[in-house]
Amino acid sequence: MRIEVLNTGTELLLGSVLNTHVQFLAQALFPLGLRIQRQVTVPDGVAIRNALAETFGRADAVIITGGLGPTTDDITRETVAELLGMELIHDETVMAAIERRFARRHMPMSPRNRRQAQRPTQATVLHNPNGTAPGLYLAARMHGKITAPHLFLLPGPPRELEPMVTDQVLPILERLLPPRPLIEMRTVRVAGLGESAVEELVGAQLLALDLELGYCARPGEVDVRTIGLPHVLVEAERIIIEKLGPHIVSHDQRLLEKVLVDLLTARGETLACAESCTGGLLANRITNVPGASAVFLAGYVTYANAVKTSAVGVDPELIRAHGAVSEPVARAMAEGARQKAGTDYALATTGIAGPDGGTEEKPVGTVFIALAGKMGPTIVARHRFASERKTFKDLVSQTAFDLLRR
Ligand code: ATP
Ligand code: MG
Repeated sequence: MRIEVLNTGTELLLGSVLNTHVQFLAQALFPLGLRIQRQVTVPDGVAIRNALAETFGRADAVIITGGLGPTTDDITRETVAELLGMELIHDETVMAAIERRFARRHMPMSPRNRRQAQRPTQATVLHNPNGTAPGLYLAARMHGKITAPHLFLLPGPPRELEPMVTDQVLPILERLLPPRPLIEMRTVRVAGLGESAVEELVGAQLLALDLELGYCARPGEVDVRTIGLPHVLVEAERIIIEKLGPHIVSHDQRLLEKVLVDLLTARGETLACAESCTGGLLANRITNVPGASAVFLAGYVTYANAVKTSAVGVDPELIRAHGAVSEPVARAMAEGARQKAGTDYALATTGIAGPDGGTEEKPVGTVFIALAGKMGPTIVARHRFASERKTFKDLVSQTAFDLLRR
């Protein structure tokens, strides 16, 4: 089934509202084996007419969002009726529901809201428990020589649209679909390898299978996405585990920080961190995970040299001799934080985020990441991430967490 989405709303094209419907609809449709084939956004008003007419004969179903409100710029209902050559009728049941809604809220109803009780003659009403504008469904039909697709008209506000899709649109689509094999999607999250390195390791073998393969890269992280029949995905997963083994963070889209919290919780272990160049990002990411308090005891943001000494006890002599961005200082920060907080592990970061401040020996992007803990001698890793500050911090936090995860 070829399904298209037509979003209406001037605010979407002015950039004042993010179009969240596309993401929601794509995720809602996927389990039915449906994928959006095309998505178009048009401003409120007459532009919707052409955009919709174009889908006739091409799409099997079109989900149209927005423009069902009571104001004059909301003309989706009228446009659809006109395009299909149907009359608009006043639906008493819908009207009564709108009146009840206003009465319940002790609000006077504007005469404009009467428009929302109109529907093309052959439309089925989709109830809107969270708003006044009901949705409408029109089954596919011949329109002259071409087929007009199944049309779903839905209100713009996400809190109205989303439950209507789940409870009413999906069941209708489900009934329209022929019996089909169940396609699944799996995502394996990988850290410590770039996108091309991942592809080099698994690409050829995975492409030999009957599946759809995709990669999604973020700083310090790559998702390997496979879509196909369940038994093919099992084989794919076997290949991915064999080739990427220790780099695998999760099989269920869990974030690295969540994986860490789960791991430490299971082992009954605790963590602290001393951060310079990441400015609290490690602590922030860890504490975004519900249940972090079971494992995370303290985060020290020791940005100034003097505070590296006063907060986590770094010997000022070390800083003088080696510089704040150095292996011995990273080590001392991690060990100091661990001792101070009394944790099983501590992570430390010290680096040069840039854009200024590098030297020949330690260019911008140089960072030392230390892990002190009960596993044995403190580990210090030197890296260079030549990126702008935000990405630099993301990469450092990612690398630090991955050091502990292993
Ligand atoms: P209303 O009765 O509120 O006028 P409507 O069906 O006419 O409903 P719109 O006027 O298009 O819908 O949008 C109403 C609200 O929904 C606006 O606040 C808008 O920002 C939001 N909205 C509309 N479309 C989207 C979208 N694609 N993604 C996220 N929010 C949206
Ligand atoms: Mg509106």
